[in-house]
Amino acid sequence: MPNFIINKNPQSNGDHEVHNSTTGCSYLPQLENQIDLGWHNDCAGAVSHAKKAWPNHRINGCYYCSYNCHTS
Ligand SMILES: [Zn+2]
Repeated sequence: MPNFIINKNPQSNGDHEVHNSTTGCSYLPQLENQIDLGWHNDCAGAVSHAKKAWPNHRINGCYYCSYNCHTS
């Protein structure tokens, strides 16, 4: 099961991006800007976990490593 992280800082469009830190991603944020989301079956599980933890944030999958969860 892969491990996911979320970027503490939003993208220019306001989305906080979820990345797969097990497979790695060229767009992983700096370590100090990563918040660990734990292990999930897939990015959908990681995104829904993050949405529960930060209900007031816009959360989106990374286009490059979590394309199935990328919506905007
Ligand atoms: Zn990514």
